[in-house]
Amino acid sequence: MAIGEFALIERYFRHCGASRADVVLGVGDDGAILRPPPGFDLVAVSDTLVEGVHFPLNSPPRSIGHRALAVNLSDIAAMGATAAWSLLALTLPRTEESWLADFAAGYSALALEHDVALVGGDTTRGPLAINVQVLGFVPAGRGLRRSGAQAGDLLCVSGTPGDAAAGLRLLQATAASGAAAADGRDALRSLARRFEYPTPRLALGRELSSLASACIDISDGLLGDVGKMAAASGCGALIDLDALPRSSALATLVRAEGLSEREALGFVLGGGDDYELAFAVPRARESELAALREHHEFTIIGELTTAPANDRAARVNMQSVDAARTALAVACAAACAEGFDHFGA
Ligand code: ADP
Ligand code: MG
Repeated sequence: MAIGEFALIERYFRHCGASRADVVLGVGDDGAILRPPPGFDLVAVSDTLVEGVHFPLNSPPRSIGHRALAVNLSDIAAMGATAAWSLLALTLPRTEESWLADFAAGYSALALEHDVALVGGDTTRGPLAINVQVLGFVPAGRGLRRSGAQAGDLLCVSGTPGDAAAGLRLLQATAASGAAAADGRDALRSLARRFEYPTPRLALGRELSSLASACIDISDGLLGDVGKMAAASGCGALIDLDALPRSSALATLVRAEGLSEREALGFVLGGGDDYELAFAVPRARESELAALREHHEFTIIGELTTAPANDRAARVNMQSVDAARTALAVACAAACAEGFDHFGA
């Protein structure tokens, strides 16, 4: 059933996510009034999801609500910050209540998990697009950047990059064929979930704010985003292909669908949408890094190096004990090293 703009804000978004004592004034006025804690820097991020660009047509609304917030929380995580407040600008072709209820449920569940309040937004009619802004804070001067890494630092990544891109491909194939492969269905389902319900690594990001020299979240693919971090730091990077983590679910997909190693590497190196963290840690702090393993899943995948000697040299190099594997990865890299660029040729 259709519902009017003001009724929908009231019903679905006035009480969405956490309620926080530092929200002096939330949804309902011309603006929200928020009270940041003294001694902290404010961190602000924004990300937009457009139907057909960032998620397939007819995606489950619960997943869209989750992802719209998750991609922003991932940016907050990469800054080493704590998320507190969010704003939601929704552009909808129509106001269908069941869609709105599921969207708000997905948004709210993740917001509650991370104690994030929804404090305002905007609602307009048009092709489905969702812009979210999240505000958070970090102890003054302690925000993590892309730019602090130095040659010799360890290069690490959380989780198992590649899963979300593999999951997206499965979702698209399933939509086309109408049925998932029977073989290893649970594993395939778990990949699709990595795309639909990514986990922002906020707790890890907070730990890294006093340990890492640089950090970036992987939204556009491991290689491209490591390249951005290295460039911002005035470094290069060397990835050990034999150290790259690969989930058992991705391995199952490769077997079930008979994918080539090149395609598998393409997911791991170039697949976007994982929202894992890539970060650099000075070698002198390796034991503190090791202590993080108790609570966080991550892998040391290489190191930061000195900057490439000239513009034509690769920013990120890769090596393996298997020369054929290195050659495959270099071929993948040619296709994906720049990461996803909406206005790219
Ligand atoms: P204005 O016309 O002053 O911009 P609106 O009528 O657009 O105000 O919004 C009324 C209130 O509802 C504001 O507090 C606004 O922040 C909030 N709001 C509007 N849309 C949303 C939304 N999708 N989610 C959360 N809050 C919203
Ligand atoms: Mg408005």
